[in-house]
Amino acid sequence: MSTQQNKFPRGQFQSTAELKQFLLAGKAIITLKSLKTNEHYTFQVQAKTTPYNQIDNKGRMWFVKVLRGQNEWLAIGGIHEAEQFRFRKPLRGNWNEESPSFKAFKWFWSGVSANKPLPAHLLEVWHEGRCGRCGRPLTHPNSIASGIGPECQQLMKGQSWAEDFLDDFASSGELE
Ligand SMILES: [Zn+2]
Repeated sequence: MSTQQNKFPRGQFQSTAELKQFLLAGKAIITLKSLKTNEHYTFQVQAKTTPYNQIDNKGRMWFVKVLRGQNEWLAIGGIHEAEQFRFRKPLRGNWNEESPSFKAFKWFWSGVSANKPLPAHLLEVWHEGRCGRCGRPLTHPNSIASGIGPECQQLMKGQSWAEDFLDDFASSGELE
């Protein structure tokens, strides 16, 4: 299967742990495909650059956007403190908490955040060939499997995504 924005090799996630690391890396783009209905949605999960408490994630937040048409991203909610996904009404259109793409992401995130195994008989989860942390195209087979490029994997190694993110702040001079 292919989509218009499919310029780079996509990858399918098999494990929840890998998927969760990818989703919270900062610039993740994933496509969820229902095997029951054949519907698919593409989402972006983008870390908001606000200071937060690295111990308990207090104040930490990710924007969740859904792809409409070719390249319009609409914010439909946020993941708060790496746990709860909450609805936020997009600026355009007639959206509510019953909108299918919102419900799809909410169901999906509730499973991932609870570390449940991926329901492979119901759902396929793909990345779109770009690193979840920096957004650059992935080329190496290992990177395509994990969705994280070799340099970013090195940076994230032995660190939680939270520490990693804090390092970015420190190196950009926004902290201290
Ligand atoms: Zn990267």
